[in-house]
Amino acid sequence: SDTLLEIDRLSVDYETARGDLKALRDISFDIRKGEIVGIVGESGCGKSTLISSILRLTAPNTRFRQGEVRFKGQDLLQLPKRKMRDLRGADISIVFQDPMQTHNPVLSIGRQMLDIQHRSNATKTEKWARAAQMLGAVGIPDPEARLDQFPHEFSGGMRQRIAIAMALMSEPDLLIADEPTTALDATLEVQIIERLHQLQQEFDCAILFISHHLGVIAELCDRVVVMYAGTVVESGDVREIFHDPKHPYTRRLIDCDPGHIKERARVLPTIPGEVPDLAKLPGGCIFRGRCYQAMPHCAKVPPLTKLKEGHHAACWLNHEETAQ
Ligand code: SF4
Ligand code: MG
Repeated sequence: SDTLLEIDRLSVDYETARGDLKALRDISFDIRKGEIVGIVGESGCGKSTLISSILRLTAPNTRFRQGEVRFKGQDLLQLPKRKMRDLRGADISIVFQDPMQTHNPVLSIGRQMLDIQHRSNATKTEKWARAAQMLGAVGIPDPEARLDQFPHEFSGGMRQRIAIAMALMSEPDLLIADEPTTALDATLEVQIIERLHQLQQEFDCAILFISHHLGVIAELCDRVVVMYAGTVVESGDVREIFHDPKHPYTRRLIDCDPGHIKERARVLPTIPGEVPDLAKLPGGCIFRGRCYQAMPHCAKVPPLTKLKEGHHAACWLNHEETAQ
């Protein structure tokens, strides 16, 4: 099949002294081979829990309550730890917001890129050449000469490019990019986004791109999943969602986003009101406390409903019998 990753009704809690924190509730979406899917939402919406669940790098107090994370048909939540370790960095790679999470400060970039190839039978010379080639692919000028340098000798933008090069060395089927441009200025951000687009085509990998900016998602992604307080409130084709958003939260995100990333200031979207406490979830629609269109019917939880092919939203306004 064409499907690479299927998140199927995933619910994840954190056990805390305050009680169970419902970090993810009933999350479903999928990524096809070679597709770029964006996840957008404010901090605390569950993006980080989702990534760590896919990678099985969750904190010890994490409880998987329900659902599956199928990668090429195999439920990663059932995979033995060893197999999961083999999969990480080989079939699924990640680029973090802070590239220093990837780089070892005391090893040269070249040495780190050799280490990544430890499973390959190539000679050291071949591995070195491949490392240089990958640095070239992400746009590092004069790559051979720079392999001997240490992470601190590169700028922040360069370090993030190198982190991307490292993540792609194993030619993964899925690259998870966790706000990889958030720490960069707008010009560098544009460069990285353009480069990711090229690399996706060159390496034919799918990308799960996490951001709190719809503008960035619009530049890069084919489809978008909008998350709010641990749930999916809307998902679909990027252009369609931009032109015809069907959830009030998505509408607010679009209104708050200064638009094209080349022009926008580096501000976080601000929507009045607070994200609900995940340990004491209110009943009914999760967005009710901040929704200017809330109505009595919203005391019931709106289901994530298919509005047309590939476009889902969870809001009663899309149901004829409730939206008057
Ligand atoms: Fe607003 Fe009601 Fe729709 Fe929730 S279901 S987003 S409260 S209109
Ligand atoms: Mg986060």
